[in-house]
Amino acid sequence: MRTSAWPQVYPVGPPAPLVATAPRENQAEIVGSFAAPECYKQTMILAIETSCDDTCAAVVELDGRGALSNVVHTQTEHARYGGVVPEVASRAHLERLDGVVQKSLSDADVSLNEVSRVAVTTRPGLIGALLVGVAAAKGLAYARRLPLVPVNHLEGHVAAAYLTEPGLEPPFVALIASGGHTALYSVDRDRKLRLLGETLDDAAGEALDKGARMLGLGFPGGPAISKAASNGDRDRYDFPVGLKDKDNLDFSFSGLKTSLLYKLKAMDGERLREELPHLAAGYEAAVVEALSRKLLRAVDLHDAPAVVVAGGVAANTLLRRTIEERCARIGTGVVVPPPDLCTDNAAMIGAAAASAPAVPFPEYLSLNARSS
Ligand code: ADP
Ligand code: MG
Repeated sequence: MRTSAWPQVYPVGPPAPLVATAPRENQAEIVGSFAAPECYKQTMILAIETSCDDTCAAVVELDGRGALSNVVHTQTEHARYGGVVPEVASRAHLERLDGVVQKSLSDADVSLNEVSRVAVTTRPGLIGALLVGVAAAKGLAYARRLPLVPVNHLEGHVAAAYLTEPGLEPPFVALIASGGHTALYSVDRDRKLRLLGETLDDAAGEALDKGARMLGLGFPGGPAISKAASNGDRDRYDFPVGLKDKDNLDFSFSGLKTSLLYKLKAMDGERLREELPHLAAGYEAAVVEALSRKLLRAVDLHDAPAVVVAGGVAANTLLRRTIEERCARIGTGVVVPPPDLCTDNAAMIGAAAASAPAVPFPEYLSLNARSS
């Protein structure tokens, strides 16, 4: 870790009055309670997100309803492998995170003196990648004697909706569809998430990434498939919609992948080139149908007045259009964050931290990351 660069990047500000506190048992003496100078109002959350392949930092207002900056560095190192390589991701986070945090502060025109809490994704995700963010957040919070808020990445995806629609209040039903997760939640008045259903195999984004790979398209697969599908006929090929008629709120995309594989096996290179737009369109439409169908079923079962769609796959134009059309017909409100708040970012982590419990200084030093 480039710890030597830290004092340069994060000057600890004007000398803080240090008040000695009694040492706890089995704990080195901690001096401290940092007080920012009077001229600074501590009204900001500094958020960090490193759960996968995006190195992210953001400055968010204390009520979690507005972001002053949202810096995302998407790692390009993984493109040549066709998927995220965990060790490569951890190293890339280490190299970039200090610069990304610094940019988030300068974009927001906020100094560390104005930060009152630090938020960080602690789970779920790639463990090495998460640990880089957690270590950095602990260091920042500890240096300023600030509380630290551990945030669940999935709750972060849902909280992107509060940044999009600052007046939004639960209850609502949320669909989270990303590269690593596909799940339906009901969000209660106290903002607690209750799992209604989830994928039994691949995540929707993963199915799009794998399908794109089979079709010889780039990574990430979602946008690549959409682009290839733009002039395609989505009805030319029959792709299965997983668990379509099952009486539950779960998803499955393994049959869809297998179906594409068999179609491709029966084609030579030239035919594939000709059929590519139609195959991509049919494959994309099957993913969209599976997601929209179960979301609408959840709305019906839970009598939800609104839906939130989040996660990287929510950036998909066909999915947004389909859900908006179907919800309009039944008078259900729809909140879909803009694409930069749908894919991984730290603003959503800051937004979730606004209503999550903070761990006081210095108790979070023992805090750990979790992959699941
Ligand atoms: P995770 O953190 O789980 O990897 P993200 O929330 O960053 O996921 O989303 C990445 C996923 O979203 C990838 O699987 C990618 O293919 C998919 N994705 C991104 N943009 C689009 C899009 N426009 N249409 C469909 N899928 C998309
Ligand atoms: Mg994600």
